[in-house]
Amino acid sequence: MTRDGSDAAFRVQPTDTVRQTLSTITQAFAILGIDDAPADARFLVQGILEIDALTVLREPDRPIGARAEMLERAVYRRLTHEPVSRILGARAFFGRTFQVTPDVLDPRADTETLVELVLDILRSDGRQNAVLTIADIGAGSGAIIVTLLAELPNAVGIAIDISPAALAITKANAARFGVLDRLTLVETTGLRGINDKIDVVVSNPPYIRAADIAGLDPGVRNFDPHLALDGGDDGLAIYREIASDIREITTNSWICLEIGAGQCDDVEQIFRASGCTPCHRRTDLGGHIRAVALQIQREPNP
Ligand code: GLN
Repeated sequence: MTRDGSDAAFRVQPTDTVRQTLSTITQAFAILGIDDAPADARFLVQGILEIDALTVLREPDRPIGARAEMLERAVYRRLTHEPVSRILGARAFFGRTFQVTPDVLDPRADTETLVELVLDILRSDGRQNAVLTIADIGAGSGAIIVTLLAELPNAVGIAIDISPAALAITKANAARFGVLDRLTLVETTGLRGINDKIDVVVSNPPYIRAADIAGLDPGVRNFDPHLALDGGDDGLAIYREIASDIREITTNSWICLEIGAGQCDDVEQIFRASGCTPCHRRTDLGGHIRAVALQIQREPNP
């Protein structure tokens, strides 16, 4: 395998063993500067061959077999920086494997920070079994709202997205994890047109500054829908929209948001101006404050 593929094309033969193939793929990924080459090689091989990690360890001399060509094509896709989750159409999130398509943001491990924060708040309020309405603004794959409904047996959800194609994936994932009967799907912006009383608003809105998108990692820039990334000139446009919409439908509610690195003070300030009180901040594995929770307490509109 060469950097530009000009000679010695990368091939996988049906008779090659899993061990050999893993090592060649890892090398090819490493040469291209892919961050975690061994893990990506393993996930790709496991995903394409539909075998688990244990089988890879126990049967290293197993031949690749009939899926050799499929694997080869998948490797070439990864070499163009397409993330493994997109090639496989699947991403593990909070212990469940979600369907992922080009229409939705690839759910990141960072977003589990937001889910944990919501669950911890409800548990410490003793409301993990309560009848609650949770609205997810910009539901995308459904990773957040579907996980919350799966973890909270009596909660009902409203999945909101401006993209009907994204909502179709939210729906598929809700069905996959048996929570579709507790989920309403609504195509709208922010909370417009929603009249239900909401107990918890969650969102991982687009928060990248428009001008920064061109400089993002190619795996993000070329494969995540820009609709799910672009937070306007200062990255905060959608937070302002949500902050103005929550005036209508919340009373004693929690607002739990994913935020970009360094946005914490600005986002809290935006929501303070809408009558919210910042209560919790949660740091992700990279050390950034990734999720904030605010409380809003007021009389409902007459
Ligand atoms: N987490 C994504 C990234 O860092 C951005 C997602 C978003 O804008 N909500 O690339």
